[in-house]
Amino acid sequence: MTTTDAPAQAVFTSTDPRTGEVVGTHPVHDAAAVDAAVARAADAAAWWAGLGFDGRRAVLAQWRRALVRGMDDLARTVVAETGKPFDDARLELVLAIDHLDWAAKHAPKVLGRRSVPTGPLMANQAATVEYAPLGVVGVIGPWNYPLFTPMGSIAYALAAGNAVVFKPSELTPGVGVALADSLAEIVGGRPLLQVVTGFGETGAALCRSGVAKIAFTGSTATAKRVMATCAETLTPVLVECGGKDALIVDADADLDAAADAAVWGGMSNAGQTCIGVERVYVVDAVADDLVGRIAARARAVTAGRDFGPMTMESQTAVVRGHIHDALAAGGRAVVGGAGSADSRLVEPVVLVDVPETSTAVTEETFGPLLVVNRVPDVDEAVRRANASAYGLGATVFSEARGPEIAARLRTGMVAINSVISFAGIPALPFGGVGDSGFGRIHGEDGLREFTRAHAVVRQRFALPIAVTSFRRTAGGMRALVGVVKLLRGR
Ligand code: NDP
Repeated sequence: MTTTDAPAQAVFTSTDPRTGEVVGTHPVHDAAAVDAAVARAADAAAWWAGLGFDGRRAVLAQWRRALVRGMDDLARTVVAETGKPFDDARLELVLAIDHLDWAAKHAPKVLGRRSVPTGPLMANQAATVEYAPLGVVGVIGPWNYPLFTPMGSIAYALAAGNAVVFKPSELTPGVGVALADSLAEIVGGRPLLQVVTGFGETGAALCRSGVAKIAFTGSTATAKRVMATCAETLTPVLVECGGKDALIVDADADLDAAADAAVWGGMSNAGQTCIGVERVYVVDAVADDLVGRIAARARAVTAGRDFGPMTMESQTAVVRGHIHDALAAGGRAVVGGAGSADSRLVEPVVLVDVPETSTAVTEETFGPLLVVNRVPDVDEAVRRANASAYGLGATVFSEARGPEIAARLRTGMVAINSVISFAGIPALPFGGVGDSGFGRIHGEDGLREFTRAHAVVRQRFALPIAVTSFRRTAGGMRALVGVVKLLRGR
């Protein structure tokens, strides 16, 4: 059993947001239960670290194959707790499996011991660095991509040699339990990946439990609470928060492709995507044309068929508030409008000419709402894109100037002439700046996040001139300073 079996104080249910039907009952793990899980994980971490890269890679390959075999069942659990379409859930899994594969295969090269040059002043030394596991890592995850998002931390933490205790969102505990069960079957029930369930208090207990690091994905407001709690024990944190990603369209862009990317990027998963497109900045010359194409595509998208309901019921009011604020400030609705967010199934909304001070532009909406604002030129598009407190991802559509525009964006990731594609490339680091957080999952950086650099230097022979000794002589220092002047003074 992977869900900790220490006595729980209470239980809670998860429900299908499409119907309200109860789909699972889970314990509310208190601090004692969380501490017990972390203690068990410490033993598993020692065993796991002892397997070495090859042993771990073999186990993770077995897990990967099991996830492929069980893909449809796991996807059904994701659907039941989020309400998203089945194929969206399978897409999540496909990407998560690809990341698991990359992390397991690349861990030896990225983290394994390697020699580094010592430089002329330390030529008598041999130096190596390796990246050692931290021990037990705590992962706190959100509900919008309940499998893909936490796997960005879990897969990389495991591949780096750590054990993991995972606290899924209270809305998607069943996904976390199913994920952990699938690994437990492969490691003979060892508590390598355990799940603790409950509400914010359970997450806070994980922060206080003595884990070596917390990898948090969720809202900026909660991230601040998590950091404050982690500060009590000086527990380091990796913080992946929300975004207000912009899509910039230049005059020479393929407008059909840009419109398609804006609508998919903004409305798939009902817009409940941290790297979803929330703002579009299009240059005047092609603005009318682009708005027409976006509107036509958005009208063809239907809530309940192409995407599911708001997974978190209270999100409907946030989306409604942003629409009302934008319209009251002078924005115009070209698709949907004031009545589109009256129920948990929010219909697509496209707004134009929205003042940049409106909450629809400044705050994360997390709904199927696109704000399309025209700008005189790309410079202004870049300025507005960068004016956000967030800085997670961005998209650029331009035939000639993509890389040049991308280089000017203050974000962690940029896609040129495609959307969200960076999340599907395991070798690329993923994360943001500003209110979007710090630290990186995925890629080499994502592996190193869950390690400590361990530097070792070994003296190969003693130098005739000792400068780090109380036997140091004035002549020795003169010789050393002379060498530095010669080598570094030019
Ligand atoms: P929340 O911030 O509400 O919750 C995130 C997790 O933190 C949940 O598991 C939650 O538990 C837990 N939690 C809540 N309070 C505390 C606390 N005091 N101490 C420790 N843990 C706590 O985020 P959502 O689940 O609503 O997720 C949506 C947010 O996540 C959006 O802002 C989105 O942009 C962001 N996100 C960012 C991604 C990225 O990689 N940058 C990817 C995906 C989403 P519980 O649910 O039980 O309250």
